[in-house]
Parts: sequence; structure tokens; C-alpha cells
Amino acid sequence: MESSTFILFGATGDLAKRKIFPALYNLFIDGKLSGPLSVIGLGRREWSNATFQSQVLDSLRTFSRRAPEDSPELRRFLLAFEYSVLDVGHPEDYKKLLAHVIRREQELGLPQNRMFYLSVGPEFFAPIAANIQGSGLGDTLGWKRLIIEKPFGRDLQSARELNDSLGAAFREEEIFRIDHFLGKPMVQNLEVLKTSNPVLRALWQNRYIANVQITAAETVGVEERAGYYDQSGALRDMFQNHMLQLLMMMAMQLPQGSTPEEVRRKKRHVIASVLPLLREELARHVVRGQYAAGEIKGKPVPGYTSEPGIPAASQNETYIAARLFIDDPLWEGVPFYIRTGKRLKEKSTRIVIEFKEPLNDVHNKNRTVLEPNLLVINIGPEEGLSLQLNTKDPRRHGALEPVSIRHDSGNPGMPEAYENLIGDALRGDATFFAHWDEVELSWQWVQPIIDAVDAGELPLHDYAAGSHGPAAADALLGEAHWWLDEEPAPPAAAKDPEAIRQGA
Ligand code: NAP
Repeated sequence: MESSTFILFGATGDLAKRKIFPALYNLFIDGKLSGPLSVIGLGRREWSNATFQSQVLDSLRTFSRRAPEDSPELRRFLLAFEYSVLDVGHPEDYKKLLAHVIRREQELGLPQNRMFYLSVGPEFFAPIAANIQGSGLGDTLGWKRLIIEKPFGRDLQSARELNDSLGAAFREEEIFRIDHFLGKPMVQNLEVLKTSNPVLRALWQNRYIANVQITAAETVGVEERAGYYDQSGALRDMFQNHMLQLLMMMAMQLPQGSTPEEVRRKKRHVIASVLPLLREELARHVVRGQYAAGEIKGKPVPGYTSEPGIPAASQNETYIAARLFIDDPLWEGVPFYIRTGKRLKEKSTRIVIEFKEPLNDVHNKNRTVLEPNLLVINIGPEEGLSLQLNTKDPRRHGALEPVSIRHDSGNPGMPEAYENLIGDALRGDATFFAHWDEVELSWQWVQPIIDAVDAGELPLHDYAAGSHGPAAADALLGEAHWWLDEEPAPPAAAKDPEAIRQGA
């Protein structure tokens, strides 16, 4: 990795404090940053370098997965942080910034490689890019790159406009769009799981898979983000980006050792192949919900429209579920069920793959139904894998019972998503970032839902806080059901293996 200057817009903000400084620190102590480190933080606040450095130290003490220890290393890390006052709308502040960046490059003997990280509101993305271009900050002898936070637009049109304005200052291969789900270790592991395990590789297709369920459930409500969330909702905040990215990562097929370009091509293929939803059929495939009052972990919580800052008549969704199909011979006929929501019963991000059980075939009259095999990929908060198989219980006359073989990755010591992603961007590896094609095609798929919501054509279902979401979302699955919502059934219904073999 070549050394560079890390120029952080929004250095006084929440994301910098909670994620970016700890990520840089952990990369630093793991020796993953090459050469002298130089970070220039920006914001309107009149901070000195010393104030900035003490804020960084506070952030490490509070949020870093490894506590900072007083050492020459830590002091070296903190001294790498300097601060410049900058208002994004003031072109003269960028000239000052350029002089600061050049001075540090010369002091530290750094090549002119510049990483611009935009940890600010989306309304600032375009003016910052224009000012980077206009001020000369972007005219480097080395590389320049842009890391950009979500949200990337609020519909297809605004996303295209934003992309055009960034395109005036940065080429596509210089833009790293963060989707922090792509930084999670289990998501980064998905492709290896498929390519390095012949058993899974063989099964990863419609011949063996009955359906795929992708869930990102949160127990928290809208918290302090009412202004943003009520304009965004679950569709824009989670579904268009994180959930569709998980779908692409799950469904793409890659040969071992693929390049970032191949990954992008395959992801693009998946999202381009998701069958579009016809406006008149939307309500059969998409369920929107909003949480009503309920209980989370035994404590009463208010409904969405009683949350501070949320209008009493808000029709914003806090839950969305959809059924979609991928028009590809490998996935033909396999429904993908995707859901995400707030104030749900448990916090969990996971992918569940239900395998087909031919013995449960409809032609098998009077059948004894076998529990399906399930592969569960736990993405967060716990990370790991489990495989549900049927075994014989000798204590119960050989009755079948499902057992789960588990592997828990265990979180301690695992790098955080932001660590992985910032490290990748500094190395110039775009594998786990959202390419423009994917973003645009995701908006294109989602746009009919936005239009139907705006036209009042998609009903908004209530669900009690602390539940698994609206009942209408269960109906999406027809005869199937969402796995792992309930505690596993006790192995009461004895299943006679001989009867199953006979198809009786
Ligand atoms: P925040 O706490 O409100 O911080 C905003 C930052 O922008 C502050 O550092 C602020 O600095 C700076 N800023 C605001 N107006 C400015 C101006 N005119 N000129 C220069 N700087 C200005 O927001 P955040 O939570 O850190 O989020 C930052 C971005 O990340 C947003 O786009 C958000 O959507 C995205 N994001 C955040 C999270 C999260 O967990 N927080 C997660 C995903 C994405 P001054 O006040 O000093 O000017």
C-alpha cells in the first residue's frame, strides 16, 4: 500500500467519532497503514490540532475495539491528526486546505496520494466534489480517491444527478461508495464459502434450494434520527442499498480468486436480472409496515408516530418485505424473501437458505413431512454458520429430530466493517464497495415501489413493536414461513424413518 493523506470532511461528527477514528487506529496498530500517517480533519468548528487530537483519543477510549494504551505508538498516531476549519460552501477554505495538505506532504515526505472521505450530509457531496476539482486539491501527482457515505440519492433521478456531479471530479474507479454491510466479515466470507467448499458450490442453485430469506432486523426505533428517517424510511435507508447488496453477494457465482472487476460484473448481472415488479402487482410482492406501540424486552415502547419529531399522520414505513425472483437459469423459480425493519423482536442480520426436500413432494400422499435442511449465515450481531440436518434419536425409537451444526466465528479480535473497508480503499481494492451500475440498477428496481407509495397504492400495515413484523409479510411466503422467527419446535412429532422411506 502506498502512503497517502487522509482528508476527512465531517471530522467533528458522529460517524468519525464512532467508526472512522477507531478504524484508522486499529489499522495502524495492526501495521496495515504504510508509511507516515497524515490525517487532516475538517469541519466548521474552530478546533486546534490539540483539541482535535484529544477528541480522537476520546473516541478511541469509547469506541475502539482495542483500548488505546499510553505508548510512543499512540502518541505517534495522535500527532498524525491535524485540523483545518472548512465550510463546504466556501471556496477559499479549500485553497487553505490545499496549502495545509501540501505542507504536510512535504514535512512527512508523502507522495501526493489523497484520500477524500465525505462523512457529511448528502447535500454536501456534490459541492465538495466540485470544490476539490476547482481548488486544485484533486490535481495530484499520485492517486486521488473519494470515499462516500450513504445515502446515494433518494430515487433513481437524484442518484443519477449525484453521480453525474461526482463524475465531473472523480472517475468511477476513484469512487468508493461505502455500504458498511459489505465490510462485515461474514459478508466478505460469502464468496469464499461458495468457491472453496465443493459441497456448497454444488448445492448453490435452484435444483437444491427451495428459497432464500434475507433478514436485517433491528430492535431500536427511530432514535434521534427522526428528521432523516421520516423522509427516508426502511425502503431507502436499508432496502435499496444494504439488502439488495446482500442479495447480490448471496446470488452471484464466481470462480475462485476473482478480480474486483469480475465481482462487479457478476453483482451487476444479479441485480440486472432481478425481475421487475409490475406496478399493478406490487402489493402482492411487497409489504410495508409501521410499528405501533408494544414491548421490547419487557419494556413498553411508543409507536412510530408517537416518537419525538415524527408527525402523527406519518405514512412512512419502518418495515419492508419483498419477494423477488432472479431471471437466471441457476435461480429460476427460487423466491428470495427480503425483509428489514425497526422495533422487531430481535436484532439479527442473517441469510437463511432452505434446501428442497423431494420426499416432501406434493405427490407423496399422506406424507410425513421432513424438516428441511437449512444453512444459516449469521452476519450480525453474532457471526457464524449453522447447518440444520435431520438425525435419528435412539432414545425415541429412532424418531427423526433436526439438529444444528454450528460454527460461531466469535466477535473478539474480528476487524470491524469500517476497518476492512477503509483498509481496502487505501489499497485501492474496490471489491467490497458499491459500484455505480449496482446502485443505479438497485434504484431502478426500487423506483416502482417509490412511485406506488407516492401514489398511495401500497398499504401500510401496523405491527406491534417487539413482534416479527406485520402478518401480511408472512403471507408473502405462501406455504413456506420465515425461519428462525420462533424458537425451534420441540422434537415432539415423532417421524418414522421407515414410513418416510416408503413415502407413506
Ligand atoms: P453529524 O454527526 O451530523 O456530522 C456532520 C458533520 O458534517 C460534522 O462534522 C459537521 O461539522 C460537518 N458539517 C456540517 N455542515 C458543514 C458545513 N457547512 N461545512 C463543513 N462541514 C460541515 O453526521 P454523522 O452522523 O457523522 O454522518 C455523516 C454522514 O455519514 C451523513 O451523510 C450520514 O448520512 C452518513 N452516515 C452516518 C452514519 C452514522 O452512523 N452516524 C451511518 C451511515 C451513514 P461542523 O458542525 O463542525 O461543521
